[in-house]
Amino acid sequence: MLHIRHCQRCNTIYKYGSDKMCSVCLKEIDELMVKIRSYLEDNPRSGIFEIAKDLNANEKDIFYLLREERLSINPKISSGKYSLICLRCGGVIETGKYCDTCIRQIQHELKTATSAFADVKEKQNEHTSAISRQSVPETAKVKMHTAYRHKKMS
Ligand SMILES: [Zn+2]
Ligand SMILES: [Zn+2]
Repeated sequence: MLHIRHCQRCNTIYKYGSDKMCSVCLKEIDELMVKIRSYLEDNPRSGIFEIAKDLNANEKDIFYLLREERLSINPKISSGKYSLICLRCGGVIETGKYCDTCIRQIQHELKTATSAFADVKEKQNEHTSAISRQSVPETAKVKMHTAYRHKKMS
């Protein structure tokens, strides 16, 4: 089966493997990451705004690298729209998508949702007949959705 996707960064069509971007963008992002890392060694007190300005980089790319945990930034330096914030509680974070507290809560919720799903499946097996697969418990769906709903914003 052939998987074709639009690159989320430049929108060209590429063959989808496990990467979210086309190979050109992946290479550019890698190069940018190296540049930012060495920039931060020289300028450890720089935030996202300064990095974007001094390296002439797109702040979206910087956020992408931070969200992917390939870079981290001192949360004390960030301000306003140049802060990396937890997608769940809005607190300023160093790297990734969520703060430590929210990560623990999300993991807990996913566990609960998964076991709710397993429960229903078991019940479905008991009544062997034509209960459709659609009847995944709404609560499980909603919870999964909540946990990942902000992904696109990053
Ligand atoms: Zn691309
Ligand atoms: Zn949080």
